[in-house]
Amino acid sequence: MRPAVHWPTMTWTRVRASVIVLLVVSFAAVLVLSPGGPGVTGGIDDVAATTSALIATCAAGWRASRLQHRARLSWALLTAAFAAAALGQGAWGWYEIVLSREVPYPSFADAAYLCFPVLALAGLLLRPSSALVGQGRTRSVLDGLLLAGSMFNLSWVTALGATYDAGGDSSLAFVISLAYPVTDLVLVTVTVVVLAQAQARRVLVVLAAGLLMLCVADSAYSYLTTLGTFQSGNLTDVGYVLGYLLLAEAALRDRTVDAATPRPVSVPSMLLPYLPAVGGVGIAVWQLRTGLSNPAVLVGSGLVVVLFIRQLLTLLDNHRLVGEVIAGQAALSFLAFHDPLTSLANRALFKDRLEHAVALRARNLQPLAVLLADLDDFKDINDTLGHQAGDEVLREVAERLLRTTRAGDTVARLGGDEFAVLVQDGGDAWRVAQRILQALDEPIELNGKQVPMSASIGVAAVDTRDPALTAVELLKRADLAMYAAKRRGKASVARYELGSADALANELDLRTDLVAAVADGTLDVHYQPILAATGELVGFEALCRWTRRGERVAPAVFLPVAEQAGLLSALDHHVLTTALAFAATFGEDLLLNVNIGVDQLVDPALPARIRSALETHRLAPGQLVIEIPENRLLPDRRAAASTVAGLRADGVRLALDDFGAGWSSLARLQELAPDIIKIDRCFVAPLTAADAPTDIVAGIIELAHQLGASVVAEGIEHPQQLETLRRLGCDAVQGFLLGRPMPASQAAQLVGQQSSRAPRSLQPSR
Ligand code: C2E
Ligand code: MG
Ligand code: MG
Repeated sequence: MRPAVHWPTMTWTRVRASVIVLLVVSFAAVLVLSPGGPGVTGGIDDVAATTSALIATCAAGWRASRLQHRARLSWALLTAAFAAAALGQGAWGWYEIVLSREVPYPSFADAAYLCFPVLALAGLLLRPSSALVGQGRTRSVLDGLLLAGSMFNLSWVTALGATYDAGGDSSLAFVISLAYPVTDLVLVTVTVVVLAQAQARRVLVVLAAGLLMLCVADSAYSYLTTLGTFQSGNLTDVGYVLGYLLLAEAALRDRTVDAATPRPVSVPSMLLPYLPAVGGVGIAVWQLRTGLSNPAVLVGSGLVVVLFIRQLLTLLDNHRLVGEVIAGQAALSFLAFHDPLTSLANRALFKDRLEHAVALRARNLQPLAVLLADLDDFKDINDTLGHQAGDEVLREVAERLLRTTRAGDTVARLGGDEFAVLVQDGGDAWRVAQRILQALDEPIELNGKQVPMSASIGVAAVDTRDPALTAVELLKRADLAMYAAKRRGKASVARYELGSADALANELDLRTDLVAAVADGTLDVHYQPILAATGELVGFEALCRWTRRGERVAPAVFLPVAEQAGLLSALDHHVLTTALAFAATFGEDLLLNVNIGVDQLVDPALPARIRSALETHRLAPGQLVIEIPENRLLPDRRAAASTVAGLRADGVRLALDDFGAGWSSLARLQELAPDIIKIDRCFVAPLTAADAPTDIVAGIIELAHQLGASVVAEGIEHPQQLETLRRLGCDAVQGFLLGRPMPASQAAQLVGQQSSRAPRSLQPSR
């Protein structure tokens, strides 16, 4: 619905226009009909001109009082200009009506009149217009002068020539009679130049029309004066009244200030000020043909034409360049606020829109929700199929998100595989989330392969019970809900509930606390014994432990958080150095197994880091076993191969952890050629019965031995499992039955017992 306030504004504009037309027509009728003779008509003319100039002055003064900064100064100068004109008109009337004598020439009225164009020009040039930014102001004056020159040419062959030929009573009178048309010309041409290049034109058009009317009236006055036929009450004086009334109208209308954002000026409007130049030259040439002009005028005109063409070419060039700069600016501003890969809004734009929406909601109480979607296992897609395929998936996901949301909703890629949707105007965020899940349910086709895709989505809506909620807080809540969804499993949605705030806040704190724990080195390391099939202790696996606010947090909970927060590398290094310090105390016979994340395996600095840690603790590289998880894909096979080669060259051993539970086991086996293969718990678990099938485990052991690797079975909890594995030729075993992960002190005790005894048989250690 249109705001009602528009109606009165429209009406007032029309009313004013009608009043102007009525006044001007009545005034013209009075001048034509001349009731009461020339004396009375002249008096009416003087009063009308003075009154209309005063109206313009009042309107401009009122406008100046309502504006600020440069706009105010501009209108203040225009007020002064109009006041000068009113003073001139008043003085003229004073002579004619009060003193009943002819106005002397030159007189005080002329001085006042001539102040008008100077002040008006200054006022015009001070307008806060995008056309007058930087060099634009000087350029406008120069354009004005150039055009005034052409117009002068034009005037010369029409009116000015006659003035000049007629000469004057005195040189001052002569200069003044020339000053009128010249100053008017400069003023009008500058107005036209500003008008042609400005963007908020309506007011300027009225302003220019008013000035043009005054200029025409002035020229007529000058011309008639030189002919000696001017008299107050001449019909040409309608130009003054109309001119002043139009200036008043411009003042009343000028509410908008020209926008400062650049926009290319159209070619026709750019060329508009040059039309008078062409006209002037044309007339000069025509007059030469008819013998009224002389060759000097022709040469001058020729020069103007050349200059004009030169200027035209520069203008067209500039126009093209400005177009390019503006297009470049638009592209840059797009890049600053959009994600280059998907063209969705980026984090900066999303944050801005969110802040705006939250601020707006405080006023209109409209529902508002944020939806955060994190793709499940996107990293694995990137790792197996390559970054290009990853990019393709992100683009496709972006498109599906756009398809499932409404046109007004902001869809953004916040980074990596994290997307966000801002749901406004009463949209149901929960349903949007469901639709997104559905849209992602269909596999994405990549080079003929069907790649499954899903996302974990967190939804946080502004609650009426939460009036002071900020954008940051809302985003945080969506983030917490998203983590909750992740924990529920793939392709799920979780909503942030005010009631469950504690649990979710706890989740957020978890990350913060983990960052602090890694930074402060307060994470613990426990050691789980690894025993040979024959029963003696062969080493320990170092496992990270975190006690947070008195409670133990499982690695399955904090390790993904560490990975998400980019902390895993630092965490692993802390565990490595702590474990090496421990291993340095138990002699050279035992092995130390340390886990690392896959990301570290592609870090070319890893071998050097491990070498230096080994040197610090004076440990032989052969004592260290690096466990590489098998259930995650390698991000970059070539880089991983070179890191592995570096580690191996140093004499460090490699174990492939959780073998059989993850991806591409055989390919991985070939690539990494591990020294040790650790059979995943899931293969050991069924071996509790004496008659359980053993084919797979037997096959793995056989294969490992074929490849020259030794085998460790993980997760032994039952004597039967131990028995079977020993029978199948497994080299070493690890599990709760043989020893739980324990603190360093306990592990040291175990080492002490071990060395004081003969090799133990594989006895359960409950
Ligand atoms: P993993 O490397 O396979 O470590 C063995 C896991 O199995 C340990 O779990 C251990 O406590 C558990 N375990 C050992 N014997 C048995 C058993 O008989 N039954 C059962 N049910 N579980 C047993 P934990 O300590 O929770 O660690 C889980 C995983 O977290 C580890 O699996 C390892 O992949 C990772 N992890 C632990 N510490 C670190 C670390 O410092 N850095 C990295 N990158 N990963 C680590
Ligand atoms: Mg391990
Ligand atoms: Mg394992």
